[in-house]
Amino acid sequence: MRVVATVSFDEGRQMVVATVQAACKLPETETVSLLAADGRVLAEDVRADRDYPAADRSIRDGFAVRSVDLDGRALRVIGEAKAGGKFPGTVATGEAVEIMTGAPVPSGADQIVMVEHVTREDGSIRTPQGASPGQFINPKGVEARVGETVIHRGKRLGFADIALLATVGRASMTVYRQPRVAILATGDEVVPVEAIPTDEQVRNSNSMALAAQVVRAGGLPVVLPVAKDDLPETRRLIAEGLQCDLLLMSGGVSAGKYDLVEQVLGEFGAEFVFDRVLIQPGQPLVFGKAQGRFFFGLPGNPASTMVTFELFASLALRLLGGEAEPRLRIATAALTEPFRHKTGLTRFLPATLCDGRLTPIAWQGSSDVPSLSRANSFLIARPDRTEWPAGEAIEVLLP
Ligand code: AMP
Ligand code: MG
Repeated sequence: MRVVATVSFDEGRQMVVATVQAACKLPETETVSLLAADGRVLAEDVRADRDYPAADRSIRDGFAVRSVDLDGRALRVIGEAKAGGKFPGTVATGEAVEIMTGAPVPSGADQIVMVEHVTREDGSIRTPQGASPGQFINPKGVEARVGETVIHRGKRLGFADIALLATVGRASMTVYRQPRVAILATGDEVVPVEAIPTDEQVRNSNSMALAAQVVRAGGLPVVLPVAKDDLPETRRLIAEGLQCDLLLMSGGVSAGKYDLVEQVLGEFGAEFVFDRVLIQPGQPLVFGKAQGRFFFGLPGNPASTMVTFELFASLALRLLGGEAEPRLRIATAALTEPFRHKTGLTRFLPATLCDGRLTPIAWQGSSDVPSLSRANSFLIARPDRTEWPAGEAIEVLLP
């Protein structure tokens, strides 16, 4: 049943993005309130309703002065401008207005002197600060202009976006509906989490990890029952999974005698884009489309399932959710110890990233869930290099 299209890590993810983008129509939209908008994908361009700031604004507590007056002379304090208020008059030569952070700068003044930099002498102030026109003033419109698009359609909203939406007065907004993602674990040895497994069995951790990963990538998980390594049951559950916007299967895609997933997908008329990626963990990874729905056959070992979701399936899911430019979060960090591997495969190994320094975690291979739980990131070892000395920068994937 194998179509045998083997791809590298970079080719694989480019193929996922290109294939989904080519086929993807934008999802339906719905309206959500601001408090429910975190993590949702914006389905409209959001514009500034006025200039930000709306007036020249002090960004310090202090005194609004004319910069040309800052030659050491005493300046007479003629009033105050507090946040939410406005000084009605004009600052003339030799005068200052006490001002709070956020207050509009009174006319005549063109500089704020911080309160920490003045000495007060009855009714006047004196400062050693020199002239620096514009200092500590955010001019009207410098942050955003009225009518300017401040958040573009297709952006997945984070907390700073929520702040911006609140700033521009948007209590509700249109977002894309979240894709429904079927999660189908396979394997005779896989039992429910609540079961007491025999020594031959494992609990179904993959469906649970994938459900969490799906939520984090903006999808709605639909966890199906585990499919036994049995053709009729695999057929029935794959058919059910293909009703969702995306189907994720775990296990059953290796070369083993009971690996039935590809065969059944073939019966459903699947077009396979690739079925092997030169990565570890996760080599036997199947990506394709059947009955108008994309699917991933993820290898069953827990590390393989998690890593291949993050590397490939998350991109497809985010595109299906209307995200304009989903990107993996890959950074570099200095190794705390030397690292070596064999060439040929791109490896993704559990690691801890702390203060810009990356420490690989000793692990026992792709079934070692406790080590994965200790990690907060994956070290990326590219296939064309064997050794990295301690202190050298290496890539890291931040899930
Ligand atoms: P497979 O890809 O089907 O050959 O599965 C490889 C190994 O992954 C199996 O031997 C299981 O130990 C493990 N495995 C498969 N499915 C799951 C699952 N849903 N949860 C936890 N471990 C699994
Ligand atoms: Mg299996």
